[in-house]
Amino acid sequence: MAWADDAFCKGMTVDTFYPSPDATDGERERVEEAAKKICRLCPSREACLDWALRWPETTGVWGGHTETERRTLQRRLLGTRRRGTTTLQPCGTTAAYRRHLRRGDVIDDACAEANRVASANRKAARKEAA
Ligand code: SF4
Ligand SMILES: [Zn+2]
Repeated sequence: MAWADDAFCKGMTVDTFYPSPDATDGERERVEEAAKKICRLCPSREACLDWALRWPETTGVWGGHTETERRTLQRRLLGTRRRGTTTLQPCGTTAAYRRHLRRGDVIDDACAEANRVASANRKAARKEAA
């Protein structure tokens, strides 16, 4: 991913963009606002957001958008795009997580955790590759 080479967050710790799952609303907001300030300076912002929406990356700040903001964007995109049905994966998998997201379900803890771990791993892998 060429855009990752120019990423302003290159070399920063993952925590900078991922509020802890136990964070209070205030803590979460502080982390998100600080991350968004970094994204504002980033030349890869658009490509990063595009990547995060396509994957989708459902946790952390990507392309200057929080997970909630991206979910809103995602809903709009998914509303215009129908997907074929596949074998349903059980809760506790990222596939199940994305299914909940598409359906607008309340996300259960097992799925939220599966997604958080997968997303943090991808972010870490991206930093290693950069
Ligand atoms: S826009 Fe993406 S690549 Fe740029 S600083 Fe933000 S998270 Fe990193
Ligand atoms: Zn689930």
